[in-house]
Amino acid sequence: MAQNCKYIFVTGGVTSSLGKGIISASLAKLLQARGYSVTIQKLDPYINIDPGTLNPYEHGECFVTDDGAETDLDLGHYERFLNVATSQSNNVTTGRIYQRVIDRERKGDYLGKTVQVIPHITDEIKNSITKLGNTNEFDFVITEIGGTVGDIESLPYVEAVRQLKLEKEGLSMVIHLTLIPYLEAAGELKTKPTQHSVKMLQSLGVQPDVIVARTSHELSADIKKKIALFCNVSKNAVIQSIDASTIYEVPLLMKEESLDEVVLGKFSNKDAKEPELDNWIKFLNKIKYPKSRVTVGLIGKYVELKDSYKSILEAFIHAGAQNECKVKVELIHSENISSYSVDENLKHLDGILVAPGFGERGIEGKIQTVKYARENNIPFFGICLGMQCAVIEFGRSVLGISDAHTSEIDEKTENAVICLMDNQKKVTEKGGTMRLGAYTCKVKPDTIVSSVYGEPEIEERHRHRYEFNNSYLEQYEKAGMVASGINPKTNLVEIIEIPEHPWFVGTQFHPEYKSTVDKPHPLFVNFIAAALKRHNS
Ligand code: GLN
Repeated sequence: MAQNCKYIFVTGGVTSSLGKGIISASLAKLLQARGYSVTIQKLDPYINIDPGTLNPYEHGECFVTDDGAETDLDLGHYERFLNVATSQSNNVTTGRIYQRVIDRERKGDYLGKTVQVIPHITDEIKNSITKLGNTNEFDFVITEIGGTVGDIESLPYVEAVRQLKLEKEGLSMVIHLTLIPYLEAAGELKTKPTQHSVKMLQSLGVQPDVIVARTSHELSADIKKKIALFCNVSKNAVIQSIDASTIYEVPLLMKEESLDEVVLGKFSNKDAKEPELDNWIKFLNKIKYPKSRVTVGLIGKYVELKDSYKSILEAFIHAGAQNECKVKVELIHSENISSYSVDENLKHLDGILVAPGFGERGIEGKIQTVKYARENNIPFFGICLGMQCAVIEFGRSVLGISDAHTSEIDEKTENAVICLMDNQKKVTEKGGTMRLGAYTCKVKPDTIVSSVYGEPEIEERHRHRYEFNNSYLEQYEKAGMVASGINPKTNLVEIIEIPEHPWFVGTQFHPEYKSTVDKPHPLFVNFIAAALKRHNS
């Protein structure tokens, strides 16, 4: 049991998108590799209760945890780096903080007091942080504060950090991540934006203990000295974070810069052993020096923003490493695929993944894609909406049900082979009302997935409203599409496959959420193995 949990806050300055999530995950990895138990939390300063209602173009993928929380995609990084599951407690938004406070106010819990940002909102923020520490499960809680210091909306968070730093003296510290831009014309790295952002943090009462400086060029000893002087930190607490070719290199770069040692030093922790990173280094070498290469297509409608499919892209990297091959992913817009263009778009691919999604746009392109993969024996993997498209396509082309559809898109079809789950029928609210989180699935023996998983029962995470319509199941199975995964409690079809095809699997759940560096997801690993086989033949 871990006691005296230590709190590390990670703030960001100068600009967003500097990679606070990756720095937090990398530090956590180094501490975990030294034998500590660590968790990471993200506090998001927007008003949405969670990112579940956000368009992926706004905020990238929505990551789903075992307990069914719809969360920020950074939680995906935390899980992929640490191989430890996160939960709702690991992601809290301003909306949720206010909702809790307002709910309590309505109940009369504040006993007639005026409810204010300080102390009530800041207390609720502090509760969300210490809640993790108080479980006694963790030696370290790393809390990433979303947004950039100086934003109006992140002020209460910075104030909560200021208060906690005082309350947890000796048990807390602040890492400030900033940018050191390189001015091409002057041929110089500039520290001024960092100085300004640290001044801003100081003016809010928070002195950072460590500066992590994102840079495209090596920081000289002089520059580090200058940053230390102007930001009021010791010189060894200025950590360079140089652009890396892959995010999986960052823990090693942080180790080279001794970020973990500096952090432990701040807590006067001397008994720490060296981090054990052998497996991580092996993994990294496999992605850096692949022996072969496959090209897979990811067919979806949010392809302009890679972050929309973050977990799928990372799962491909893990699966590639396992197969010692580079997986080149081509993001293909499903709206560009029609019966005329399908061959030209897909013929060079070794494998095809049809992505999850919502709504009508691009769905006929996805259905055309399934048909092409099925008829041309190209390894096919359909996830959530991708699986539903596979069912629709099979219904139309093989069973001859020309109006087979999902009632999500065609409410009036007489053949809704994909239909709304019973318990969704009365639901009108959009937020947090899908079938969410981990469910058990029974795997049918002697199927592709039974050999892939090697276990009779699995648990995978869901995020959807529609399902396979079981009244068509017999027809489908007779014609060669098998339900190889079934929910034992509800009988919902969770996996379909076509045994006649080299590799054709569709899952109603999202396996990508559970792929980590330590445990690449077996479905992705096997799909890439099938793509590799096709590539080599
Ligand atoms: N829109 C589909 C549903 O709600 C699929 C969701 C998804 O792909 N995550 O069932």
